[in-house]
Amino acid sequence: MRFNTKQILVDAQQGEYAVAAFNVYSLETVQAAISVAEKENQPVIIALGERYFPTVDVEGFAALVQAMAGKSRVPVALHLDHAYEKSSIIRAIRCGFTSVMYDGSKFDLEENIQRTKEIVEIAHKAGVSVEAEIGSVARGAFSDEEDGDGTLTDPESAKRFVAETGVDFLAAAIGTVHGMYTGEPKIDLALLERIRSEVQVPLVLHGGSGTPDDVISQAIRSGICKINVNTEISMAAVAHLLKFAADASASKVHLSTIMAHMQQSMEPVMTKFVRLFAQMERKHRRMGIDLEEWDSL
Ligand SMILES: [Zn+2]
Repeated sequence: MRFNTKQILVDAQQGEYAVAAFNVYSLETVQAAISVAEKENQPVIIALGERYFPTVDVEGFAALVQAMAGKSRVPVALHLDHAYEKSSIIRAIRCGFTSVMYDGSKFDLEENIQRTKEIVEIAHKAGVSVEAEIGSVARGAFSDEEDGDGTLTDPESAKRFVAETGVDFLAAAIGTVHGMYTGEPKIDLALLERIRSEVQVPLVLHGGSGTPDDVISQAIRSGICKINVNTEISMAAVAHLLKFAADASASKVHLSTIMAHMQQSMEPVMTKFVRLFAQMERKHRRMGIDLEEWDSL
């Protein structure tokens, strides 16, 4: 099913779970993400960053994801991740992305508000929802993503930002990083609670990779509805390719086999995140399902 990202996230907000936004860059990554979502019976967000525009045929990619989403049994949304250029956002809207992230986090609050507001007006006219960020997510290890200065989100500014821009969901910087942590993660969950008390729209956490499970569960309980994951998936695929390359007989293997196995190497990582984000145990408890009975099924 093709779904608007906002529909997916509003349901997550009401149901107190989070949806995985997997960063993709190839057919195999998309197939892995949708296949895992179907197996786990959970919605999924396919996220392509503006930084991949030079190497990915954006219109062709969108058509491919739309076709795959159309025959999927679960809700699938197509999201533009970290876009800095208005032209990229318009391009994504024109070819059917269901949400866009405008990243004006490098600007001061006033300018971020003005720029984001303009994007929201354009996107909403096309029925496309908008994510934006205030504060800034720093970069850890093995990351191919944005390097912010790590400024945490100020709750009062978040309230003003959402009210004045009309964004549909907000990325809050609470100490997670893009990529893997180089030291002990310092995630400010008390700050997240304060942001949530000021902001009614679904909140987004960037930097799912390497974040401890209990922190993720607590963040979901504190209002996080979408969690972006990139690096851990890339690391699983790269580790798989290196293992192939180290095997002396690998030169005789056909590329199609290597790529199929690479997809399989990403799926367990994605499954781990989808299960964690779905908060199944809590959901069943809320629905009054006896957990012991459920486990024995
Ligand atoms: Zn990010």
